[in-house]
Order: sequence, then structure tokens, then C-alpha cells
Amino acid sequence: MTKSLEIKNFSTWFNEPAKIPFVISGPCSAESFEQLLETAKEIAANGKVCALRAGIWKPRTRPGSFEGVGVKGLKWLSEAGKITGLKTITEVATPKHVEQAIAQKIDCLWIGARTSSNPFSVQEIAEALTAIDIPVFVKNPVNPDINLWIGALERINKAGIIRLGAIHRGFYPFEKTVFRNIPKWELPIELKLLFPNLPVICDPSHIAGNRQFLREISQKALDLNMDGLMIECHINPDEALSDANQQISPNELKKLLEDLVYRKADSENRQFLEILDQLRNQIDSLDSQLLELLGRRMDIVEKIGEFKRKNDITILQLRRWENILKTRTEWGQKLGLDNELIKQMLEIIHKSSIKKQEFVMRRRNGEKHDDC
Ligand code: PEP
Ligand code: MN
Repeated sequence: MTKSLEIKNFSTWFNEPAKIPFVISGPCSAESFEQLLETAKEIAANGKVCALRAGIWKPRTRPGSFEGVGVKGLKWLSEAGKITGLKTITEVATPKHVEQAIAQKIDCLWIGARTSSNPFSVQEIAEALTAIDIPVFVKNPVNPDINLWIGALERINKAGIIRLGAIHRGFYPFEKTVFRNIPKWELPIELKLLFPNLPVICDPSHIAGNRQFLREISQKALDLNMDGLMIECHINPDEALSDANQQISPNELKKLLEDLVYRKADSENRQFLEILDQLRNQIDSLDSQLLELLGRRMDIVEKIGEFKRKNDITILQLRRWENILKTRTEWGQKLGLDNELIKQMLEIIHKSSIKKQEFVMRRRNGEKHDDC
């Protein structure tokens, strides 16, 4: 199935040329008019922020958490936008939300990660957007399925929304990780490759889950040539009713935006260099995953070594090694990988695993060793 999106050039979305990187900031949730307005005023003063965000209806994992102030918050957002001159943006998850946000003249909308995971919901929102001309950003779905993300963008685009962008907020980690959500940078990069006109904004706050990682992730996003950043900012982050750990104060936001390095993607042959860069970034991300997996494999090798030591079993079991070679070669073939590559790679890994288990075995004998 061919994929195409009709996207209006990002720099012409608004009356005045959009600043790139397009920075969206504001609290995770609107909590009171004072909280929102104070945050907005300080954010506007730093001069780098284009749009004020605030969640009005909050998708929470379990009921009973703060679920947003509801429709009255839209008035606050709209008012804070008027006072500060910032564009306003909020999350919509139902046709009713769309209707209410439009009624309050909110400037832009975004579709949240949980909603973009559900084609039925996206379709309903798309229908509610028909004949409405408003910029819409689609966050990546919770699971790392690029086609689901593209599908959501296509549905909104088919409703006539051509001021359309994507927001990369990372993917649900099935295991404990440092970040709240795994970035999987190769996905937004692939999206950019498929749709070069599509603005892609990075949301470091929801990737990080913790303010200490915001700088690293924001810089990475800029270096990957993303078109903007969405960073949660609260007048009093520690007291925030949602996502307190990842929000920063307006002062911290100012410092962060000042400290980031804004590089130019300039060269003689821009198209060539850009594509080369995007491909290399995919390689980096995959290599880091490969190494992470290799590290985890080594940890298990060590555990097996201990287990064998306790049970007085030899390091090598020939049948198991034969089976590894056979099955992995078959798996590799299915993926179109060269037999020789698989064999050599397995031999290197196996050699290193044996060395690791020798180390574990020697530990029992109290031998001195300085390898591994
Ligand atoms: C948010 O932006 O506050 C939010 C709920 O984000 P996400 O949909 O990425 O979880
Ligand atoms: Mn949030």
C-alpha cells in the first residue's frame, strides 16, 4: 500500500513564519487559572517558546488519579494564550473534546499516545475534524508500531487536516529501563524518511519521565533534525498534580533551551547528507540495542556458569552448541542474513561466553585471575 500524506509546509502554518525548532511548553495538566497563567507568562518571557500546552482531560492508567479539570480549563488556556501571545494546544481524545476545544478557539490539537493506539478512536476524532482547519499533531502510539502511527496520521489527513504533524514520545517499555518510555529513535527517523514534509516534534518529558534526562534527550532530538520540542513546564513542578517528576520550572526551561546546541544541517549536497545521516542514526540506535541485548545475554551466561558450577557440570555441552548453530542459522536465513555472518558472530559470542564461564568456575577454586 503506498503511503502519502498531503502536508502544508510547516513554516507557513501560521500567519507569521513558525520558529524552528517549534517549542511547545506548559504544564502536563491545567490545574487552576493562576497556575496556568503564571506558567504561561514566564514561559512567554524566554522568547523561545511558540505554543502553550496544557492537558485538560488526562488519560490516567488507573481511575482515582487526577483526571484533569475538564472543560473549564479550556477557557483558562485560551485566556492565557491571549494574554501572553502564545499559541495554545491541548490533547483531544473524543469528538466531544474536539468540539469543546474548537468552541474555545484553541489554536492546535494533539492526539495522545493511548488514543492513537486505537484506530476506532482516531477515526471518530477524524470525523469530528472534517471541515475544520486546525493544526493537529499525532503522538506515536504506545506500542512501537510505525504503521499504526502512520495509520492515525492518514486518518486525520483524510479528514482534510493538512497542517499535520507527529509527536515522538517514546514507547512503552516491557522491562524496567532508565527512561519512562523507550525512545526507539529509528521510528521517528523512518517516519521522516517516508514523509519528509511531516513536522516531527520530540516530547522529551514523556520519554524521560524524569527531569534529569531532559537535556540529553532534547539535544539528541535536535541533532536528529527534529522540528521541535514539547517540554512540560510547571510553575511549581514538585507540587504538580500529574507527572511531577518530569516537569521543570520556567527558569529551568529557560536554561535548558539556552544550553541546547542548535546545529545547522548544512552541506553542499543537502539531500544526500541528510539521508546518509538518518540512516546512520538508525544504525546507532540498533547497534545500541544490539549491545544492550548482548550485555543481557552475558548476564544469563554468567548465571548459567554459576548453576553449572554448583551442579558440577562441564562448561560445554556439545548438543546444545550444535543446536544453537543450527537454529540461529535457520532464523538468520529467514531474515535474509548471510550464513557466514551468523556463524562467525555466534562463534565470537560463544567463545566469549565460555571465557566468562571459565572465570565463574575458577572463582570456586579461589584461583587468582586478571582476565574477563
Ligand atoms: C501528555 O502529553 O501529558 C500525555 C498524556 O502524553 P502521552 O499521550 O504521550 O502519554
Ligand atoms: Mn504529562
